[in-house]
Amino acid sequence: MGQYFKAINTDKQEYVCPWCIDGGAKLWERAANTQGSIFTLLLRKCDEGGGGDYYGYHRGCGEGGAIRGPLSPIAGRWAGDRVALVGDYDSSGLYQESERFRNISRELVDEWNAFIEIEEQKLKYNEECGCGEES
Ligand SMILES: [Zn+2]
Repeated sequence: MGQYFKAINTDKQEYVCPWCIDGGAKLWERAANTQGSIFTLLLRKCDEGGGGDYYGYHRGCGEGGAIRGPLSPIAGRWAGDRVALVGDYDSSGLYQESERFRNISRELVDEWNAFIEIEEQKLKYNEECGCGEES
């Protein structure tokens, strides 16, 4: 059996389900596919934007053109938090415990697809995953 990995944020008690974002859950599958790139958006930390950057930041018209906050609930959401790709064989039990955490996969897919303009690099939200359902 292969080991499955899930992106988990223990500080915010959130996770990204690999199947909700229509990807594989094994480590190499995450590494070799767009689903593994989600951390670039989630972990981005900067309160200013630049060329080729996430566009959801803008300067306000207040004092000194002060930087306004992110327009996205996803970009930088996990920056500075305790985040890990947790395997289901891990002795911590965190993989299983995370089932009661908040699944942010849907929001992530929407934001990712708005950010990435290359069609092949877009994510697909899998409505059929069923990971949040009671068993
Ligand atoms: Zn799922």
